[in-house]
Amino acid sequence: MNISNAVNKIYYQLKPFIPRWLQILLRRKLVLQKRLLCTDVWPIDEKAGKIPEGWTGWPEGKKFALVLTHDVETIRGHDRCHHLIKLEKELGFKSAYYFVPERYRVSRELRDYLTSEGFEVGVHGLKHDGKLYKSEKIFRKRALKINQYLKEWQAVGFGSPSMHNNLKWIHELNIEYDSSTFDTDPFEPQSEGVQTIFPFRVSDNSTNRGYVELPYTLPQDFTLFVLMQEKNIDIWKKKLDWIAEHGGMVLINAHPDYMDFEENGLGIEEYPAEYYKEFLKYIKSEYEGQYWNVLSMDIARFCSKKITNIHTVNTSKKKDINSKKPNILMIVENPFPSDIRVRKVRLSLRAETLWLDTGMTTRKLKRS
Ligand SMILES: [Zn+2]
Repeated sequence: MNISNAVNKIYYQLKPFIPRWLQILLRRKLVLQKRLLCTDVWPIDEKAGKIPEGWTGWPEGKKFALVLTHDVETIRGHDRCHHLIKLEKELGFKSAYYFVPERYRVSRELRDYLTSEGFEVGVHGLKHDGKLYKSEKIFRKRALKINQYLKEWQAVGFGSPSMHNNLKWIHELNIEYDSSTFDTDPFEPQSEGVQTIFPFRVSDNSTNRGYVELPYTLPQDFTLFVLMQEKNIDIWKKKLDWIAEHGGMVLINAHPDYMDFEENGLGIEEYPAEYYKEFLKYIKSEYEGQYWNVLSMDIARFCSKKITNIHTVNTSKKKDINSKKPNILMIVENPFPSDIRVRKVRLSLRAETLWLDTGMTTRKLKRS
């Protein structure tokens, strides 16, 4: 784990205590600073364009694959799904919607409607409380529940909240594919990208289990429009053109929660739904007949059949990322000796197997 990941980790530990508007302002500042340092790997990491060995291309000789996905974060997003479905249907696209089973009530009618209209339903975490990957024990316990929802919803795909992931643990889920990684996105809490714009297989030789991993390859809407406050879709277009040129998979994750369909003035976490519409229109006009708009489950099945032709990551050999114990030195100057918040954060980081040295100083406030 590098320093930037450690800073991210601290931020996500403190997150529950910070009001939402302040979280956004802090993240905006961090993202803008980081953006300047990452121009060589974001939004395009040239290494990710490498064609996997043995790759034989997409069906019907299509130039690239187009996978549209939507994580539905809150009840607000859930209630906006019908706007987004309508928009996609009108333009002739299909997509996958991932719901959080235990954060809000997921309407059965909505799930049924999606599948009956040729869309897909998947599972996005369990509670979206940042604790899914806290320990292997917690993950295994929650995996049992996630598997129940997968079965009940007849879903075969999963995506982790905040793109936390541990590809080895994910074998516990009864899935055909997972989508919890990205080719390059230094702004995510677990910021290492998988450096490919192609699906790949994750297998475990010791247990004979496996699934297809679908990394997202376009920057997330929240990062672009809420944190970076971009006022157009130029970055989406640029990345799309680059992926098309390299014959890869364009996988976008756009959230109905953040899309403003009503045009009644944007909230701090919103961007015009028109941006997403413009993106779909751009694909249609520039690449008509050249892309394979496919559901996540169908691209996973396609890649599963071509098992010998896609890149494989073997998690039985892969070192468990959580087994690393980096040192963090946390220096805090706090004029209030009775304030226990810092100690709380320290304890909680320790619980996550991070070794932590804390230097604390207390100083009386001088009256001016
Ligand atoms: Zn989420």
